[in-house]
Amino acid sequence: MLKRLSLLAAVGLAFGVVVYASVDKPDAEPKPLPVPELKFNDVKEIAPGVFFRYSSISANDPKIPFGGSNHTWVVFKDYVVVVDANFPKEAADVITDIKKTTKKPIKYVLDTHHHGDHAYGNTVWAKEGAKIIAHKNAARLLKANGPKQWEDAAKDRKDLRDNELKQVDISFDDKYELKDDTQHVIFMHFGHSHTAGDACAYLPKHKILCTGDACVNGAFNYMGHSNSASWIKCLEGMEKLEIDLICPGHGKPTRKDLLAKEKRYFSELRAAVKKGIDEKKTVEEITKGLDFPWYKEWTGVGVVETDMNKGNVKHVYDELMGKIDHDRIGTAPAPLNLGAGPNTTVVGR
Ligand SMILES: [Zn+2]
Repeated sequence: MLKRLSLLAAVGLAFGVVVYASVDKPDAEPKPLPVPELKFNDVKEIAPGVFFRYSSISANDPKIPFGGSNHTWVVFKDYVVVVDANFPKEAADVITDIKKTTKKPIKYVLDTHHHGDHAYGNTVWAKEGAKIIAHKNAARLLKANGPKQWEDAAKDRKDLRDNELKQVDISFDDKYELKDDTQHVIFMHFGHSHTAGDACAYLPKHKILCTGDACVNGAFNYMGHSNSASWIKCLEGMEKLEIDLICPGHGKPTRKDLLAKEKRYFSELRAAVKKGIDEKKTVEEITKGLDFPWYKEWTGVGVVETDMNKGNVKHVYDELMGKIDHDRIGTAPAPLNLGAGPNTTVVGR
């Protein structure tokens, strides 16, 4: 009996200590959200009512199929909000995954920009009853150039031949906010970064920023429609937010320091190309001499190893030579598959 009592006392004491410890630090900072471990096509609840789906991608391994954009979806009290529309085929796969997590209707889908892997699935989401939201420049580019680009892309994609391009339903200038007593999502435009019409989705309650291609994790930056100087400023704007987790348009979710890596890539690229121009080098010579070991450490790919990265050097070169009218880019198709060819820069169309 004595033994039993002392055991109870020990349990009580342990319990007391636990309670004491939690009462002791009422103002302790809540722990940041964990960075989820994910394999391709995995879906994980990354915060209460917030799910992330990691789409397959590789900058240099053609055996890995390109699964389009990543997705985040947020389950509100009465409906679901989804970040990015992807291609039609992948949109259907994502809808199947969403339905495994909630029975609520999908009400809004954000196109983070007008590129096919983020917007061509609009038609599939609309059939689910969703309204498509985008920044006004993304809506404009999809309207002005989407039909022709869709037609070109449909030559290589059956899901496009089986569907039709669906335009944006609701467009916004700086911000578009959705809020109820369970969730809060703010769609934000920071300026011209990856395209003229990029929007991020910020979840202030969970300190999550879904960036679309305005910030990607890996060698997935396509700069053909970008304004690299403005992009750096946009990333600085994002850095002002309280962020635990970045959910990028491509690549794995990670911490806030991803914004600094992206900034470093664009800054060092601009500086190296500027130096080359000052030394009267050709773009080929500049490209050949480029080597950022830190970039390979981050992405696993050399800074000019892929066609897309080589295209990025050419884009920055053209920008610094004054050959690009930033108000008019975004009119040429972006590559639908990573590594599918050199980047395209079209001016004055
Ligand atoms: Zn894109």
